[in-house]
Amino acid sequence: MRLVNKVALVTGGARGIGREIALLFAREGADIVIGDVNLQEAEKTCRDIEALGRKALSVELDVTSFLRVEAAINKILDKFTKIDILVNNAGITKDGLILRMSEPDWDAVIAVNLKGTFNCIKAASKVMIKQRSGKIVNIASIIGIIGNPGQANYSASKAGIIALTKTSAKELASRNININAVAPGFIQTEMTAKLPDELKQKMLGAIPLNKFGTPGDVANLCLFLVSEESSYITGQTIIVDGGMVMV
Ligand code: NDP
Repeated sequence: MRLVNKVALVTGGARGIGREIALLFAREGADIVIGDVNLQEAEKTCRDIEALGRKALSVELDVTSFLRVEAAINKILDKFTKIDILVNNAGITKDGLILRMSEPDWDAVIAVNLKGTFNCIKAASKVMIKQRSGKIVNIASIIGIIGNPGQANYSASKAGIIALTKTSAKELASRNININAVAPGFIQTEMTAKLPDELKQKMLGAIPLNKFGTPGDVANLCLFLVSEESSYITGQTIIVDGGMVMV
């Protein structure tokens, strides 16, 4: 087990990719905090973590508010006294072509995906700096690298996360904090289930490994990035997409 005695906060960890990351980290020995707007689902995930023999805490958390993020971090410190790992996974889409994209849809996606990631890095790194150690993984997307029609807000938020990863990695490296980004391709979750079948078939044709990814594929990469095995890696964006984008 690679994460024994570690405490990990996974934002948006109630379901989808975040839930899979939380369960894998728990199987590797970590105690887990699920920070999510969906408290009911977060509690279900926590019960599954406890069934693995680990401690779990669900915290109602809207990452768009720095004050709420700070309050959540304090709750975590009350229970666990430290935070070793942060996975910034909470993310939303509100797609539309630029000419039709409303200001609220632009703002909402930037607020959750980009500002939310900043808020959590800011609050958690304060704790990690005192600890003189920490691992942060930001969930970006290949769309933040290649762009995608209909996803101006989403692609900009994810490209912003990639740049934020580099800057925060440079700022915090001297405090023994590693920060990396993961850029998934098409992963089968509720977020992608709503896409039209025709589009899914088109995307499948562009994936050299000829299959969609699973939340487990993303979780495995995150596990590597929060384990000691990746201690000489920081500021990087690693793609997990079946070969769809090769840079
Ligand atoms: P899901 O929509 O399945 O899960 C996202 C979770 O985040 C949900 O529990 C959601 O709550 C929660 N959430 C939403 N807004 C907030 C908020 N303001 N504060 C805290 N939690 C919030 O998404 P996925 O698992 O598919 O995606 C996870 C991450 O991976 C996202 O960042 C996404 O952009 C990224 N990604 C996904 C890909 C894919 O193919 N699925 C590809 C590339 C990247 P609620 O249930 O209430 O909405």
